[in-house]
Amino acid sequence: MPLVNGKYRANNKDPRVPANEVPAEVRAKNFEPVDTGYTTEDALEEANRCLDCKKPMCVKGCPVGIDIPTFIRQIREEDFAGGLATIRESNMLPSVCGRVCPQENQCEGNCILNRTGNDPIAIGQLERFLGDMTESVGATPVCKPANGKKVAVVGSGPSGIACAGALAREGFDVTVYEAFQTGGGVLTYGIPEFRLPKAIVKREIDGLKDLGVKFEYDAVGPPLRRRRVLQRHGLRRHVHGCGRRPAQVLEHPRREPSRRLLRQRVPHPREPHEGHGLPRL
Ligand code: SF4
Repeated sequence: MPLVNGKYRANNKDPRVPANEVPAEVRAKNFEPVDTGYTTEDALEEANRCLDCKKPMCVKGCPVGIDIPTFIRQIREEDFAGGLATIRESNMLPSVCGRVCPQENQCEGNCILNRTGNDPIAIGQLERFLGDMTESVGATPVCKPANGKKVAVVGSGPSGIACAGALAREGFDVTVYEAFQTGGGVLTYGIPEFRLPKAIVKREIDGLKDLGVKFEYDAVGPPLRRRRVLQRHGLRRHVHGCGRRPAQVLEHPRREPSRRLLRQRVPHPREPHEGHGLPRL
């Protein structure tokens, strides 16, 4: 840690630590992730650039309000379990958000270093670095005592699993009902492997299972039989997070009009053969 007269002094004039990438000639021949993340040395060097602002603009840019200066400080102090716990107070999906959030428009876009002509802190890479340490540091969030109330979450996409994690931490007995054969929704079926590996999504879901969240796959068919699910399981509350099924399409003169495409019904994966059109991942 850079100390001057016993006080922390940021190396904010240093350039941002670049992401490690697989060489083009290697990645041209596979679908593996392109960005391999930060090493511990990279993370410490990048964390040393943070000014630890008293009024952190980065937090204002974060949709879930993660305490960014605190987790960066904890990285600097090599308290990785503490840093992960800080993120998980606001966000149960650090490995996912560190990879796919548009940080350039959110936390990093608001970082004060942009105003001084320096590179913003690589907050996404640091969040991902901590998220990927989940297994080695073993930071399972603390949950409140069980309150005996059951909640159903319909859909295991980002909103569903984020909601399930928040409720589990508050002591609710949460069951997630998913129409597909695998959890993750758009994280699994919509983002390619080189951008967000399926193993990462699975690990985040396994983290929720460690909190006591139950997952039922192939459980909800179209139309969602909400009342039936509630009655069958004696559930008191119901959260609907099934996302937006029809795809958004690019406008292009040689494409069909988007309005016509959007009107088309997108088939459920179990149709038309009841034979599970999508492979188990
Ligand atoms: S605004 Fe930038 S420099 Fe300030 S605390 Fe946030 S990440 Fe660090």
